[in-house]
Amino acid sequence: MTTAERLRRLRDSLSASDRMPLVFLGHGSPMNAIEDTQFSRAWTELGRSLPRPQAILVVSAHWMTKGTTLVDVSAMPRTIHDFYGFPQALYEESYPAAGDPALAREVVTLLASHHGAEDDTWGLDHGAWAVLKFLYPGADVPVFQVSIDMTQDLPYHLEIGAVLSQLRDRGVLILGSGNVVHNLRAMRPGGAPQDFALEFDTLFTESLEARDFGRLADRKGLGSLLTMAHPSVDHYIPALTVAGASDEKDALTFMTDQIDLGSVSMRSFVFHAA
Ligand code: ZN
Repeated sequence: MTTAERLRRLRDSLSASDRMPLVFLGHGSPMNAIEDTQFSRAWTELGRSLPRPQAILVVSAHWMTKGTTLVDVSAMPRTIHDFYGFPQALYEESYPAAGDPALAREVVTLLASHHGAEDDTWGLDHGAWAVLKFLYPGADVPVFQVSIDMTQDLPYHLEIGAVLSQLRDRGVLILGSGNVVHNLRAMRPGGAPQDFALEFDTLFTESLEARDFGRLADRKGLGSLLTMAHPSVDHYIPALTVAGASDEKDALTFMTDQIDLGSVSMRSFVFHAA
């Protein structure tokens, strides 16, 4: 099935329920933010398919903290250009959506047992705005980010998702942004997908379909395949948070699923009430 067909089916299934879907997007290269690619086109199409949220909570690979889960409570989060050596046009992008300080403070409370704390300095990094500009081009839905605590192991991030899941019934779209495989050292621009990238991507997909999230968070069990797919797990964690927010009643739809640059999986998926 093509991405367009999958998105059409997804759109048909989304009108039936009030519970907000959960979205994980593989964001890949920052250049997707200013180029017309199969990925940016899929993000645009997804934005047209989703119910309109009250607010968007983004867990991005690019906001890493140590010992705390920070929540951005600022009224107008700034656009962060957190990349180097890219064309000037990318640095001129801005995504002027408002924050949602009241809801963000509630999230701090929800995450009290996970070292939740307020922050008003971060804003929107490119893991957030580079996809949001296609999902909601009018920047007219309030949005705020939640950081990933890099000192915690993988099951913790499933737990964070489980805590956040209650927001789905209040019209909040939980958006994870990272990559299912992300090894920049093994990139082969224009080259074929690396074997480990295909292998991990397949394992991830099968485990997600089987709702075997424990397997996805089992560092020992995943062993060296995990360290090949993710020398650092920052781009993996948002996928776990999204999985952790799902429940057994959710249907699962995959969108784009290509391996880009040899070692970056652009696999994206949506959990939604069936
Ligand atoms: Zn990234």
